Amino acid sequence: MPPPPTAAAIQSVRAVYAELALRPLQRACSGLAECCRFRLTGRTPFLTRGEALVAAAAWRAAGRSTLPRPADGACPLLAANGRCQIYEGRPFGCRTHFCAAAGGPYARGEVRDLIQQLETLDSQLGGNGAVNLPVALEHAMAATTRRMR
Ligand code: SF4
Repeated sequence: MPPPPTAAAIQSVRAVYAELALRPLQRACSGLAECCRFRLTGRTPFLTRGEALVAAAAWRAAGRSTLPRPADGACPLLAANGRCQIYEGRPFGCRTHFCAAAGGPYARGEVRDLIQQLETLDSQLGGNGAVNLPVALEHAMAATTRRMR
């Protein structure tokens, strides 16, 4: 089966994010953005290919074509003011991981069906499982640049 077109893949991932937003799981993120500082936390979000396409599209939406490589090991999408620059397009892990102060991360079992949808799409797009955010995003940016040529 051929991979789904980029637009269809993006739509599928956004549907997963919309479904997640409907789940009655209360968290209270106060925007500390510590979770976006990977070197500080020792944790980096892993993205499936569809998630990376959504994040890359959000990054490009403001006319950006390259990714920064922050020397401090923070997420390349984190602005100097501590805000996510692709908030509406942020990956699943950024939507489900909350620090202890915000109520803690979602249990995998609470969102397993949504993870499975993302993994199925990843496979359809030729992926082999989620990879860390900087690598996933570089790949998605390169892939979408090729398609735009
Ligand atoms: S994508 Fe946004 S929310 Fe996720 S780690 Fe990067 S800056 Fe933080």
